[in-house]
Amino acid sequence: MIPAARPIIGDEEREAVDRVLRTGMMAQGPEVKAFEEEFSAFVGGRHCIAVNSGTSALHLGFLAAGLKAGDEVIVPSFSFAATANSVALAGGVPVFADIDPKTFNMDPAHVETLITEKTKGIMPVHLYGHMADMDVFEAIGKKHGITIYEDSAQAHLASLNGRRSGEWGKVASFSFYPTKNMTSGEGGMIVTDDDHVDHLARMLRNQGGVIRYQNEIVGFNNRMTDIHAAIGRVQVTKVEAWTQKRRENAAYLDANLKGVITPYVRPGSEHSYHQYTIRIPGATGASRDAMIAAIKEGGVGCDVYYPTPIHRLPSFNQKLDLPMTEMVVQEVISIPVHPSLTQAELEQVVSVVNDVVAKA
Ligand SMILES: *Cc1c(COP(=O)(O)O)cnc(C)c1O
Repeated sequence: MIPAARPIIGDEEREAVDRVLRTGMMAQGPEVKAFEEEFSAFVGGRHCIAVNSGTSALHLGFLAAGLKAGDEVIVPSFSFAATANSVALAGGVPVFADIDPKTFNMDPAHVETLITEKTKGIMPVHLYGHMADMDVFEAIGKKHGITIYEDSAQAHLASLNGRRSGEWGKVASFSFYPTKNMTSGEGGMIVTDDDHVDHLARMLRNQGGVIRYQNEIVGFNNRMTDIHAAIGRVQVTKVEAWTQKRRENAAYLDANLKGVITPYVRPGSEHSYHQYTIRIPGATGASRDAMIAAIKEGGVGCDVYYPTPIHRLPSFNQKLDLPMTEMVVQEVISIPVHPSLTQAELEQVVSVVNDVVAKA
C-alpha cells in the first residue's frame, strides 16, 4: 500500500539525536536556540520560539498576544480540532466561519458578517498548504482593529504575493508533527515580529520566566527538548527540496487526474501541498467513503481531512449554518503527494483514482 503520508527520517537525523544524547543534556538548550535561528530564515527573520507542539504554539501565541477571557476569535470550522481548541484553551471563544469551496480556506466575506464588539482575533488556516487570502484578512484586520493570527501548521514555505506563511499574522504557529512537511518528532514554533509577544511567549513556555528561579508570570512547561530540536535542525536543511518535489508531484497529478476537481492555486501564491486534496463534486459522505475503500483496495492510501466540521464535534457541539463546509466535508479525498513517491507510485495513484472515479 502506498501510504497517505511517509515521514522521511535518515541517518543524519539519527546521528543528530545521538549527538545530543551523548552530551547528557537533553532539555531545552543550544539545539533549540539554533533550531529557532535556522527556522527564522523561512519567515523573513521574524522571532521564532520553539515549543513542544503546534497546539502549544497556537495556545501560547494567543496568550502572549494578550487574548483575554471571553474574547472572540474567528476561525474556520473546516480544520483540525487544534485550531479551535487553542482559542478555547487560551480562554477565548472560537467563532466558526464558512469556507470558500474553491480554496478550502476561510471565506473573508462570511468572516466580516461575524465580527462583533467582542471579536479580538481572526485566525485563517492555510489548509493543506494553500495560503488563505491573507491580503484580504490583513485589510479586514486594519479596518476593524482586529489582530490577525495564522495557523501555519500545514504551510511551511507556502507564500502569497512574495510573503511566506508566518510573515503575515501578528503571531503565526507552525507544527512539526511527523506527518507535517517537516518534523521534529513532535514540536511547534511560535513566530512573531513583535518583541513583546516574543518575550512573553518565551516566559510562558518556561514556567513564566526566562531566567531560572525568577518567574515573572504564571507559565507552563511547554519547552521543546534538544533531542527534538536536533531532528528539526536536520529537517530544516531538507524541507525546501521536499517542497519542490511535492510541487512536482502535484503538477503530475493535476495533469493526469480525470473527473475530479484538483486543488486550486491562487495566482501569486505558492502551495506547499501538505495534502493534495481532490473534490468529488456531488458526492455524499457515503459515496465518497465507498470510493476511498476502492482506492485503498487498489493499493493507494488516502484519507479525509476532515470528516466532521469542528463546530459539530462533541467538544463544541454547535448548530450553525455553514453550507460550504457541510458540502466539502462530504466531497474531499486527500491522496498521496509526499516527496518520496516514485514515478511508478505516482502512476499507480493516477490510474487507481481515475478508475475508481470513472466507475462511480
Ligand atoms: C497539525 C495541526 C495543528 C496542531 O499541531 P500539533 O503539532 O499536532 O499540536 C494545528 N492546526 C492544524 C491546521 C494542524 O494541521
